[in-house]
Amino acid sequence: MRKNIVVAIDGYSSCGKSTLAKALAKKLGFIYIDSGAMYRAITLYFLRNNVDLENHDAIADALKHIELNFHSKDYESHITLNGEEVSDEIRLMPVSEAVSPVSAIKEVRKEMVKQQQRMGKSKNIVMDGRDIGTAVFPDAQVKFFMTADPKIRAERRYNEMVAKGDTSITLEEVFENIAHRDYADTTRAESPLTRAEDAIILDNTDITEEEQLAFALDKVQPFLHT
Ligand code: C5P
Repeated sequence: MRKNIVVAIDGYSSCGKSTLAKALAKKLGFIYIDSGAMYRAITLYFLRNNVDLENHDAIADALKHIELNFHSKDYESHITLNGEEVSDEIRLMPVSEAVSPVSAIKEVRKEMVKQQQRMGKSKNIVMDGRDIGTAVFPDAQVKFFMTADPKIRAERRYNEMVAKGDTSITLEEVFENIAHRDYADTTRAESPLTRAEDAIILDNTDITEEEQLAFALDKVQPFLHT
């Protein structure tokens, strides 16, 4: 039985996993780790260096030259790629379009899972992603599996991008990207997105952020004083 508490949040793309994870971490004083940011940063490196996704030697070599680090400001998670702050760039469309094939590569997953497990070894953490409750921390005390209507998800993500000043894409493109990533993430051979048997389903189509936080806190509460 692990001594530190791990809250695993998995689910479809743009379901608000990071919103819930950040809010939970803040409320509980836990560390928030955005595992998707790690796959996105790797993807950015692969794109910049034209790494051939069919070439296993090139992939292994690239992984050796990548160092990822998180630093947290007000529970906003920032990631650096070999010392460079890439938190904004990894959210743009070129990375969103390329990330699913990169995250389906066995060597990439192996390395990321190793790093993620190290981060959750002794500290209380909230980690969100696609395989956290199934592959990274099958022994997490609390697991959530998030879902929401795909149209609502696309609208939320689109509004978020517009608010950040990114007007280069349409709502339809965002919807397509989400649908495409859901398909790729659930059908890949390596650790596909699937609900862990003991994960609590959280559908946030019709509930507010406050309501979902209260629901999640209620589930974590019993583990706080054991
Ligand atoms: O969470 P986010 O949407 O930023 O993740 C981007 C992509 O990274 C996902 O679509 C998925 O392909 C991959 N991912 C993954 N396993 C995780 C987290 C993210 O395969 N634990």
